[in-house]
Amino acid sequence: MCGMQKITATFLLRLCNFLFFSLVSLFFNTVDASADKVKVVATITPLADFARQVGGARVDVTLLLPAGTSPHTYEPTPKTVQELSKAKLFIRIGAGLEFWADKLVSAAARDVTIVTCSDGIALIKGEDHGHAVSNVDPHIWLDPTICIKIIKKIEDAFSRADPSNTSYYKKNASEYIDKLKSLDMEISEKVRTFRTKEYITFHSAWNYFSKRYGLRVAGVIEEGPGKEPSARHIGEILRLLKGLKTRVVFAEPQSSTRIAEVIAKEAGAQVLILDDLGGQKGRETYLDLMRYNLAVMEKAFK
Ligand SMILES: [Zn+2]
Repeated sequence: MCGMQKITATFLLRLCNFLFFSLVSLFFNTVDASADKVKVVATITPLADFARQVGGARVDVTLLLPAGTSPHTYEPTPKTVQELSKAKLFIRIGAGLEFWADKLVSAAARDVTIVTCSDGIALIKGEDHGHAVSNVDPHIWLDPTICIKIIKKIEDAFSRADPSNTSYYKKNASEYIDKLKSLDMEISEKVRTFRTKEYITFHSAWNYFSKRYGLRVAGVIEEGPGKEPSARHIGEILRLLKGLKTRVVFAEPQSSTRIAEVIAKEAGAQVLILDDLGGQKGRETYLDLMRYNLAVMEKAFK
């Protein structure tokens, strides 16, 4: 009986040892699995989504600007620097959108590879768009065909940072590019049915989109990032609005809707939300975001 108890005790001890070491190795394997993922920081929601679409399970993506934050008025925090110092790749639009990023990269003081998505893209001059920090319009991602070029750039950067998974990134990128091509066709077909092709936006985000689909931005409510329009400018917007075949004033999630409401009331118009950044519920991904905007425009222009 005594011998039996001793055998049971030894067995239990061995079992405990086995479980303990299994847990320890499981823990370290888990840590290793996330440690060898490529750490990526992306500035805005569409770029974080692109990085996840191309990188899949091989990358760990951090979004810098939370939903509802405007890159034009963003102020980096010590946490921003901390996130960036851990990253291997930093994906940004460039063209003056993240005017705060250069300082950030030097503050992070680390060997981060910067992927600037606007490099090599034909940029629209921005005399009247109100982004004082740059003379080009940075809102390139609102044209899905430009996003195809961005996806290729991200695929290339991931393959360089993690060459053993090149074919994985290539496959993901090519599948996602097919989805962007379908989106582009879908928007073209819808826009063709619009009764009016001219509109007034809240901020100057929609020039690449308009150029791609044959629309025209007749005016912009915001005179500069985060700046309240003057009474004279509001008068001008009201005059423009009267000439358009739509009774819609666009506002956006990054700004207060108050000004748009004032203008809409004066013009007997309705306020709808166009969203150039996304991240809100129902428009977390770029594809959902663009389909949301298309549905809003359909409501306004058909
Ligand atoms: Zn903008």
